[in-house]
Amino acid sequence: MTFTYQAVERIPKQLSEGVVYHSPEFEVAALLCACGCGHRVMLLVPDSHHVSSERGMATVKPSIAVCDAPCKAHYFITAGEVQWLPAFSAAMASSVMRNQIARHATVDAKRRPWTTRLWAAIARAFNKLRELPGV
Ligand SMILES: [Zn+2]
Repeated sequence: MTFTYQAVERIPKQLSEGVVYHSPEFEVAALLCACGCGHRVMLLVPDSHHVSSERGMATVKPSIAVCDAPCKAHYFITAGEVQWLPAFSAAMASSVMRNQIARHATVDAKRRPWTTRLWAAIARAFNKLRELPGV
């Protein structure tokens, strides 16, 4: 299987095989697993992976390790060509999963959850109240 690169606004619900979809706006990329298992692989771009186009063919760096599907496939996609790497053992897969979860947590913290924004808004409102004469 070879992979073409497609820049999209949003990742489509139905993915086609052999296409790396990249949404620069939402900082994600998605593809159907190269092993043919049909698993939808999501990548955080640029947080965990870099996706580029070489004459319309996709290059993904670093390697893609499918940890959350039974196939545990592990491969590079370079200029559309899939290069297979040894499959992940269950132990390696779970450690990669933990790292990815940790990374997700950091990304979420960076994006400031709505609760933080809410508290900031309350604090601002409170400060305004205190500036009113006689309060
Ligand atoms: Zn697979």
